[in-house]
Amino acid sequence: MKQAQIQNEDALCIVCREAITNPLCPECLAKEVGEWLRYRIPSLAGEFTWPRYETGVKCIKCGSHMGICAHCYLKDIYDSMWEITPMLAAEFLETFDFGLRRELL
Ligand SMILES: [Zn+2]
Ligand SMILES: [Zn+2]
Repeated sequence: MKQAQIQNEDALCIVCREAITNPLCPECLAKEVGEWLRYRIPSLAGEFTWPRYETGVKCIKCGSHMGICAHCYLKDIYDSMWEITPMLAAEFLETFDFGLRRELL
C-alpha cells in the first residue's frame, strides 16, 4: 500500500511555503506572548491578534487549524513590536526564537 503523502498543500505555511513542522497555532502563540508581555508592558498584552484558519495542519496544543507557521507569525509580532519599542523586540527575540535570530541578526 502506498503511504499517504504527509506533506500536502495543507501542511505548508501560506507565507513562506515551508512545511509547518512545529505546529503551534497563532492563537496559542499569541497567548504565550501575552503572558510574557504582562510582566513587561501590560498594556500591550492584549494587543496582538491572530488569524483564524479553517483548513491546514492542527495545532499540537489546542487542535485548531493553522495556515501560518510559528516563525512567520512571530516575525509579524516582532515587526510590530519593533515599531513600538525596539528594546522589547530584542528581548522578544531571545525568548521566542523559532529560527528568527538566525534570519534577523
Ligand atoms: Zn512560514
Ligand atoms: Zn493552538
